[in-house]
Amino acid sequence: MVYTIVLLGIKENKFKVERIIMPVETNKKRPIKPPRIRQFGGSFLILLTLLLLLNFIVPSFFGPRLPQVPYSDFIAAVEAGKVERALVGSDRIEYVITTQTPDGKPVEQVFTTTPVAIDLDLPKILRDRNVKFGAPPPNQNGWIGTLLSWVVPPLIFFGIWGVLLNRQGGGPAALTVGKSKARIYSEGSTGVKFIDVAGVDEAKAELEEIVDFLKNAEKYTRLGAKIPKGVLLVGSPGTGKTLLAKAIAGESGVPFFSISGSEFIELFVGVGAARVRDLFDQAKQQAPCIVFIDELDALGKSRGGAGPMMGGNDEREQTLNQLLTEMDGFDANTGVIIIAATNRPEVLDPALRRPGRFDRQVVVDRPDKIGREAILKVHARNVKLADDVNLGTIATRTPGFAGADLANLVNEAALLAARQNRQAVMMADFNEGIERLVAGLEKRSRVLNETEKKTVAYHEVGHAIIGALMPGAGKVEKISVVPRGVGALGYTIQMPEEDRFLMIEDEIRGRIATLLGGRSAEEIVFGKVSTGASDDIQKATDLAERAVTLYGMSDELGPVAFEKTQQEFLDVYSNPRRSVSPKVAEVIDREMKQIVDNAHHIALSILHENRDLLEETAHELLQKEVLEGTQLRESLKQAKAPAELDEWLRTIRDRLS
Ligand code: ADP
Ligand code: ZN
Repeated sequence: MVYTIVLLGIKENKFKVERIIMPVETNKKRPIKPPRIRQFGGSFLILLTLLLLLNFIVPSFFGPRLPQVPYSDFIAAVEAGKVERALVGSDRIEYVITTQTPDGKPVEQVFTTTPVAIDLDLPKILRDRNVKFGAPPPNQNGWIGTLLSWVVPPLIFFGIWGVLLNRQGGGPAALTVGKSKARIYSEGSTGVKFIDVAGVDEAKAELEEIVDFLKNAEKYTRLGAKIPKGVLLVGSPGTGKTLLAKAIAGESGVPFFSISGSEFIELFVGVGAARVRDLFDQAKQQAPCIVFIDELDALGKSRGGAGPMMGGNDEREQTLNQLLTEMDGFDANTGVIIIAATNRPEVLDPALRRPGRFDRQVVVDRPDKIGREAILKVHARNVKLADDVNLGTIATRTPGFAGADLANLVNEAALLAARQNRQAVMMADFNEGIERLVAGLEKRSRVLNETEKKTVAYHEVGHAIIGALMPGAGKVEKISVVPRGVGALGYTIQMPEEDRFLMIEDEIRGRIATLLGGRSAEEIVFGKVSTGASDDIQKATDLAERAVTLYGMSDELGPVAFEKTQQEFLDVYSNPRRSVSPKVAEVIDREMKQIVDNAHHIALSILHENRDLLEETAHELLQKEVLEGTQLRESLKQAKAPAELDEWLRTIRDRLS
């Protein structure tokens, strides 16, 4: 495990404060939709409208417009013997009257009328007057109406369906609505080179090989070597996996396709698979190229994990199968290289790691001190630094920071300097920047009453005194009773002097004691505890649990793992327990409690021993609000270990040195 800056804060009462966290749009890939998809719904609607219009317009073009007369006129004309012929329809009667022009020629004139109701007398009347009559021929335009009445409803249905699918961004492949949303960068446009990536030298060295494959493929294929198809980048968030993939594309000058694993998973089963197919089609056309799949775990989770009751996750499974098929399907030497990134390699389906798929795994680790300095240098290139800035010191002060955090830090410092109207970014800006990133923004607006303030002061000094005595955890750098960040009312910052990768058992006990120092001080001074220690208690219990269930540090249980997997690259600690017998569960609980109780006891005894120092420092802190630097270190040096712990502390110190 890697040491990070220890922040021992006192938390405000969580039960009162309800926070609404507004999700912020992350840098989600915005797809460029192929125009074909969009046109599908649009052109379809236009076609539909045209057909409907035709339905109304066409009939009116057929046949001449005839003078329309009232029905009574028609009857009158019949009875007057003027009507020669009539076509009697159910809703229309056409009839011909022969008149004479002024020069004596007979002229036929056609009229129409609408029958009033079904006039059953009409045939008789017509017969009586010797009018030739019959029914009109079937409507000539009827076929269009008939056709439309059959064709239009299904078309409307398909149209609406198409539009809906379009809106959801997917659809069955048959409709080509399942185009992948991969972003296509044209050649070299990622603009990222290997010099922009620092602190991950091993990963870079391995990936430089890929660049060579892409640039001089012939060199390898000539000898019959197969170019790797897939590379899996594994590492914590923000360590530069995306950046590395872009750098490979940038260095080799090939197009870069990028898509996130979660973008494959859609509402409709089969859409993801279609998208995978399409992505590979596009990639093959653009070969050689790099296809980057971020968050591979979103689609590459082990299959069948959901259990029979859940019915599995069909969509994800199909998408994963399609991905596996596509990866097997293309020739290694086409020059398409799939780079995937994940921070949860343990959940990936083992099939993904088989030869010919993601058989190369590159770990992109959090940078060490030297790496952090290099990354700071990369990001400080475009920032004006004052002479007092020492990037090496900043690197020492930022253990556990990933590349993205460091980039953020440089920017934060520059912003702070700009706000102060400085000519250049100073070391003080960086220090404030680190504090902001570790503890959050200062919140002077959060006003505490006197009792609360006193509680916070004693609590933080309690952490500081024990932290100063415990070996291994580093120097106590700052104590503050100025509220910061989300809910922290005060905080103590403990900085390790060096990067550490292992922690011995006694150090864990010491860490737990330090975590409980705040609460113990409250107990000693006020005889009561506040809600402020909940966060400390949580962390202490987590640590005790890990000591027992993960690190095998319990004598009674021995080196047996009680947790299933280790999520190495996730920042949250949430491992599933193995199934254990109730008896073992009881022992785990007992051992955990014993570790915490012991640490609590240590904390109490140290604070009893240093009661005067506790009072003194707390008073000073209440006055000045912030204690830091040499003055703080000098006063904390007075802390004495109680006789009973002296021996124990000395042995740990010896082991560590
Ligand atoms: P990941 O994909 O591992 O989550 P990113 O590659 O997206 O991380 O990193 C986010 C940003 O952090 C990058 O754009 C870059 O500015 C910075 N960064 C991360 N790692 C490094 C590194 N090793 N060197 C330089 N910059 C880095
Ligand atoms: Zn605390």
